[in-house]
Amino acid sequence: MHLIPEPAVIVMIGASGSGKTTLARTWPADYRLALDSYRWVVCGDAGDQEATADAVFLLDAVLERRLARGLTCVVDATNARADVRRRLIEAAHAHQLPAAAVVMTAPLEQCLTRNARRPDNRRVPDIEVRRQYQQISLARPGLHAEGFDHVVTDDRLLRLRLLLQRAADRHPDHQDDVDPSEHARRVLARRFFGEDLAEAFNWTQLRPQHDPIGALTIGGEEITLAYRTWLPNPMDWGFEAQVPCLGGCPGPAWVPVHGPMDLLATYDDDFPEDVVRCDRCGAGATSREAV
Ligand SMILES: [Zn+2]
Repeated sequence: MHLIPEPAVIVMIGASGSGKTTLARTWPADYRLALDSYRWVVCGDAGDQEATADAVFLLDAVLERRLARGLTCVVDATNARADVRRRLIEAAHAHQLPAAAVVMTAPLEQCLTRNARRPDNRRVPDIEVRRQYQQISLARPGLHAEGFDHVVTDDRLLRLRLLLQRAADRHPDHQDDVDPSEHARRVLARRFFGEDLAEAFNWTQLRPQHDPIGALTIGGEEITLAYRTWLPNPMDWGFEAQVPCLGGCPGPAWVPVHGPMDLLATYDDDFPEDVVRCDRCGAGATSREAV
């Protein structure tokens, strides 16, 4: 197992689609200086290449201020060009910190495949991916000579355990004073809604033999949600949002919601009518209990 000493400047080197960002996420969030993120900061579009100069300006400024504090930086960018790498090595050494190169080993075909799956604004032309790949292949034997104190390949870094450890520190399975099922319900909400929405979500009705019910509440606005567990395959279990009955009775009626987009549609009353099911009058879609 290769360990990179910390603090250090850790320079990811890999073509677009080589898995740099996934690997970078194994370090704590504040360590990660991602060029795409700074593009997004300056113009709202992580893929806008015209924002690169401004993004580099921000990245360098943050790098400098962190290194002045003796803190590790993981530079998540292609770093295919020697002059870019030289700048990073010099920054590390100016603060008496080691510079470590992490070379991505994903084959070109895999980079191209991953790149092709990206959203339009994040996709790099194939010819550019090939060019980056070629540049890095040529540079790789000379990385020590460029001034890197450590050169490792991503396949030698055992980062998964560190990632799991950090996640476990952040979201412990359950402390002694927390009911495990209470914890499971919290995890479920976070998985379904994402971190931000989960903060606004609370379970409100937990009765034995009944599906748990909760509410997404911001200020005076609220969406009531029930977690349905009546389908035989647990993979099909999921949330339903409470909506007015289309038959006009007091309800409650429900529509299935599979994630934040469906919640938005529910909020906007913009869901297909044929998925609404009323518990009281039976209007709408056939009860799933019949399954
Ligand atoms: Zn009804």
